[in-house]
Amino acid sequence: MSLELKSKFDLSGFNTLGLKSEAEQFVRIKDVCQIPELISYVEEQDLPLLWLGGGSNLVLGESVPGVVAQLALTGRELLSQDDDSVLLCIAAGEVWHEFVRWTLEQGYYGLENLALIPGSVGASPVQNIGAYGVEVCDFIEQVHAFDRASSKWVQLKSAECGFGYRDSIFKREPGRYVITSVEFRLSRNFQPRLGYSPLSERFSQPAKVTALEVFEAVCEVRRSKLPDPAQLGNAGSFFKNPVVTQLQFEKLLSTHPKIPNYPAETGRKLAAGWLIEQAGLKGYTEGAVGVHKLQALVLVNYGGANRTDIERLANRVKQQVQTEFDVLLEQEPIAYP
Ligand code: FAD
Ligand code: NAP
Repeated sequence: MSLELKSKFDLSGFNTLGLKSEAEQFVRIKDVCQIPELISYVEEQDLPLLWLGGGSNLVLGESVPGVVAQLALTGRELLSQDDDSVLLCIAAGEVWHEFVRWTLEQGYYGLENLALIPGSVGASPVQNIGAYGVEVCDFIEQVHAFDRASSKWVQLKSAECGFGYRDSIFKREPGRYVITSVEFRLSRNFQPRLGYSPLSERFSQPAKVTALEVFEAVCEVRRSKLPDPAQLGNAGSFFKNPVVTQLQFEKLLSTHPKIPNYPAETGRKLAAGWLIEQAGLKGYTEGAVGVHKLQALVLVNYGGANRTDIERLANRVKQQVQTEFDVLLEQEPIAYP
């Protein structure tokens, strides 16, 4: 077998929350041929299997049974190009932020608002990563994957991926698909998307702004309020922004006239970070974990925490927001096992 399985593998450096966690077995996947081999192995042994990228959207338990397989597939390929656009195929293990930076160096535009999101290219379709009014699904042509349900290699067109707000079939059917590469259609002509106030306030003359300036502005804003996981364990936004009905929104507006809100397909989107802050929890600390003092949507591990610690804090946040606003927060990072 070409798989180099390691037993009792410490995962605390493999999840950006830095939670104490140990995998029963761990393997790095460097070649797509190893994927069916690994699947046969776990099926024969009847073991659970987790596909791992950069571990930046996971809440890992202290003991992870079965196999954790980190996808380390690399490669960037230009499949085709014309005057307006390029089609790229990028391997799952490429680092997202490095890929975004490289696209700008090549003169391929579209991903600049998604700069500095941690993690891998392969995980980008899983929760349809988004920031500053842009979602990755806007640029995905198709996803290459191995489907465990049919035991076949598949290509899923964007419309087949069930993309939604921080959601996709890959998130809804965990473990079914292992994404090996993603095809992106990017533009050769830069169209700034400056709808979010940190960008619109900075660039008063959109016609003159460059893609690199937007990329750098996004990096700067993010660095100013988001903790760097290398310094302080976190998984980015711990809760999704809730969408409430128009009726519920009007009720909230009558008691909280300053409540930030945005249009959404099924009602009004509220800012979960604002709700947590108003519930008095910004900067709140509970043992080794806490609510970040600059961005209340981010829960942090000051060191040595485990999943129970972070879940206890998350439950407290959810309860307090529910009591104050009658709004239920939904966790964004994936708990495993
Ligand atoms: P992991 O955490 O390793 O995995 C996440 C899930 O995807 C797991 O279920 C895993 O099994 C699955 N998975 C991973 N790779 C594959 C694959 N190749 N095939 C199949 N399944 C796979 N998210 C946003 O949307 N917008 C943001 O602006 C944003 N900002 C963040 C800022 C910080 C500081 C942090 C820590 C996180 C942020 N996130 C954000 C969340 C996170 O970075 C993204 O969800 C990212 O795409 C996760 O990538 P990853 O490689 O770390 O995935
Ligand atoms: P922010 O600017 O403080 O705004 C708070 C929330 O309001 C955001 O979450 C955003 O929703 C929403 N919002 C702001 N302006 C909006 C507009 N013009 N139209 C619609 N919605 C608007 O947010 P932030 O925390 O600094 O994050 C900035 C961006 O990075 C956001 O898009 C956020 O999603 C993304 N981000 C995501 C993560 C993660 O882990 N998922 C972590 C950090 C940052 P949306 O979240 O729906 O965009």
